[in-house]
Amino acid sequence: MGEILKIVEAVRSGKSSARAEVEKAIAAARANEKLHAFLEVLEDEALVRADEIDARIARGEDVGRLAGVPYAVKDNYLTTVGHTTAAAQILENFESPINATAIERLNNEGAILIGKTNLDAFAHGGSTENSGYGPTHNVADFDRVAGGSSGGSAVAVAAGVVPFAMGSDTGGSIREPASFNGVVGYKPTYGAISRYGVVAMASSTDVLGPLTRTVADAEILMEILAGQDGRDATVHPDYYKTETVVPKNLKIGLIEEYVGEGVDPEIVARTREYVTKLTEMGHSVSNVTLPMAKYAIAIYYIVVPAELSSNLARYDGVRYGVRAKDAKDLEGVYSLSRDIGFVPENKRRVMIGSYVLSSGYFDAYYLQAQKARTLLIQEFDKLFAEYDFLIGPTAPETAWKIGAHAGDPIKDYLADLMTTPPSLAGLPAISIPNGESKNGLPIGIQIIGPQKSDARLLAFAKEVEK
Ligand code: GLN
Repeated sequence: MGEILKIVEAVRSGKSSARAEVEKAIAAARANEKLHAFLEVLEDEALVRADEIDARIARGEDVGRLAGVPYAVKDNYLTTVGHTTAAAQILENFESPINATAIERLNNEGAILIGKTNLDAFAHGGSTENSGYGPTHNVADFDRVAGGSSGGSAVAVAAGVVPFAMGSDTGGSIREPASFNGVVGYKPTYGAISRYGVVAMASSTDVLGPLTRTVADAEILMEILAGQDGRDATVHPDYYKTETVVPKNLKIGLIEEYVGEGVDPEIVARTREYVTKLTEMGHSVSNVTLPMAKYAIAIYYIVVPAELSSNLARYDGVRYGVRAKDAKDLEGVYSLSRDIGFVPENKRRVMIGSYVLSSGYFDAYYLQAQKARTLLIQEFDKLFAEYDFLIGPTAPETAWKIGAHAGDPIKDYLADLMTTPPSLAGLPAISIPNGESKNGLPIGIQIIGPQKSDARLLAFAKEVEK
């Protein structure tokens, strides 16, 4: 059983209460304050909600499948309580008039939001060092990064503050921090969960998903979150249904490029141990190749900046958030507000995106990248005609020292080697803990499935987790 069900049963049976669970979570958030997982802890609001839920339970009402379960959410989800900053100064004072669909669905099932978690500003990054409000610290080693961009959500779960926290994943932002902190990070099929009310990064790869301590918890959350929402036209018709049959005798492909050059040998060794475990369970694992994987980072860092440069155009100092005080004219409002409101990585990506979309370079960069992306998708399709799932590590290295990549963004980008291919192809992928390095840093294994294989993928991951 996952942790969510344990809390729900305790709250429903009167062994615990929503208030007790929330108080516990708030106390844990305070006790772990120095990790800087949270940008805002919503104590008063959460306690009011908890008392409402307890009162409803006392009246015999059914308050839902997440009765009294405290949770945290990445600060790029719009919430009517607290602020929504996307960890960027430009939204420092922004209060959302709406809740994201995902937040609505969780709240409707009785879950209680206790805080907004830190991220790389606008989710641009893989370490949470690009936050406009300072980095989040790794749960296993304070001097190391949390991973990112959902670093705050990963650490909130890993530190035991909440049983689940929501993240977003454009090129690895749920899976990589999950792997760096030893928790489960699940990126569903593109379009499985409505993105309505979440700050857009790259619209063709953005997905929402949970960070949890068990796979069973991710399953419950998928049941609640997946499915159509009239406010996001990219959501697939409802297809998710938790798989109760344990998948047996699967054909699994170990992606050779994921255990090759440039990958930490300790991570390769852990991955091979995992393969042994799978074969002992009766699955067959063969080496497969995904030659286009070596271009994934190049493709990703053209397509994604192109899309985000357009999505970030709305932050103009007029409609949302902070406006530069010393601007003298309209042009100045735009440029100065964006200058003080974006972190350097946001600006770099807007510049790259505008460049690759400009008339002289569109064909040479953006169009080429989209063609290469199609080839990558075709390679995945070919593999999935033969294999049920593909595996490999989640990241080529363990969490690095805070500041180690300073001034060299390419080093950050290289950490996305294994997470960007499934993102570009819209595939579901999960990172689950797979031991640790000699110096005690968590390592993750990634399982990738064909589109809409979410239920089977989770059922498989749950079985191996046992
Ligand atoms: N690390 C990747 C990047 O910097 C992924 C970010 C994300 O998934 N939001 O773009």
